[in-house]
Amino acid sequence: MIVELITTGSELLLGQIINTNAAYMAKELNAVGFDVVYQTTVGDNRERMQAAIVHALTRAELVITSGGLGPTRGDITKEVSAAVFGRELSLNEVCAERIRAHFDRVHRPMTENNLRQAMIPAGAHVFTNYAGTAPGIALEQDGKVIVNLPGPPPEMKDMFERSLKPYLQRKYGFASVIVSRVLDTFGIGESKLETEIQDLILTQHNPTLALLVRPTGVIIRITAKAATTEVADRMIAGVEQEIRRRVGTYIYAVDDEPLEEVVGKKLLAQHLTIACAESCTGGLLTSRLTDVPGSSAYLMGSVVSYTNEVKAAILGVDRAVLRTLGAVSEPVACQMAEGVRRCLGTSVGVGITGIAGPDGGSAEKPVGLVYIAVAGLQGTTVEKKFFTGTRSQIKFQATQTALNMVYHSLIHR
Ligand code: ATP
Repeated sequence: MIVELITTGSELLLGQIINTNAAYMAKELNAVGFDVVYQTTVGDNRERMQAAIVHALTRAELVITSGGLGPTRGDITKEVSAAVFGRELSLNEVCAERIRAHFDRVHRPMTENNLRQAMIPAGAHVFTNYAGTAPGIALEQDGKVIVNLPGPPPEMKDMFERSLKPYLQRKYGFASVIVSRVLDTFGIGESKLETEIQDLILTQHNPTLALLVRPTGVIIRITAKAATTEVADRMIAGVEQEIRRRVGTYIYAVDDEPLEEVVGKKLLAQHLTIACAESCTGGLLTSRLTDVPGSSAYLMGSVVSYTNEVKAAILGVDRAVLRTLGAVSEPVACQMAEGVRRCLGTSVGVGITGIAGPDGGSAEKPVGLVYIAVAGLQGTTVEKKFFTGTRSQIKFQATQTALNMVYHSLIHR
């Protein structure tokens, strides 16, 4: 099934919003074996939109639009789609009633233009909008189909799942499935990773392999196309096993489970607790740990020890060391980790001290230099890292490294 997606809206052309609808629809359609071969974006201009739809119909059997179903004069997608197939619009009473009921429910007066949304082209299938007011439609003619979905992503997604997918399955059947599995790695660069699995990448066909660099690390995406999910899963499992054999120590999660969640589960399972002493990350590590529901079971608390005074007075960092080696040094990171572990009585203590920039660096201690220490049941380990990027990128990388160190200390117990 050849599909063209048309996303409408001048804000998309102006770059004011990111076209997440196109990405979502393409991914979902590919997953059920449809071939999305063109994606077009067009503004709210009648002639250009009509030309885009007409052109799309010359090269695709199924044309799916999003956006422009709202109540205002600028919302023209349905009218243009109807015009392309030569259909008249008329007020659909069921749709009109739903819109009236919606305004009653929210105690807001309904203006007449809201009923524009209930104008439906003759012979259209109507998709109820459960997340908003504008209904969607499917228009069929001469073996071709135009589908109009709303623009707001929650409405589009809800209608896509609830109405469009079942409609497409009934009409065309789903020939195949595409299943992806993401292996999340940390602590290995893209080029090294590529070298390790180069032969697999070069001979890839089905499943395919892709490496993508994310702020959280490099991910390996394995994608298989098969008749059923079970078959695709089996195909992926074979490749995954081989990848794990080679670079398994760097893989901390699958399908983008955040590292703070992975660490949280490990702490919980081992009945351990954690506390952090954060300097340059200013509490970001603790914040990430608390992003996980239920983290109070293992996160006791933290100290944002930004100044030397707090490092010394609260965490017990040796003042002489602070004076001679400076706050950004290996022993200070270790003493911060050990100090917070002692103060808060936890199983694990993390210490982070570094220079996040953009100022404050020197030849000896450049911006991006961060020491990270983990004090645990088997003693203290510390790493010296040179991160690059903006202040916030450096802070994030420091927290990711810290989490990774904690993770490794927990799996090697
Ligand atoms: P409504 O009926 O609620 O007015 P609509 O179907 O007319 O919606 P638009 O007016 O085109 O849709 O878009 C509404 C909002 O939806 C936009 O301001 C934008 O925030 C979001 N949106 C529209 N298209 C996209 C897209 N392709 N990707 C992401 N967001 C989008």
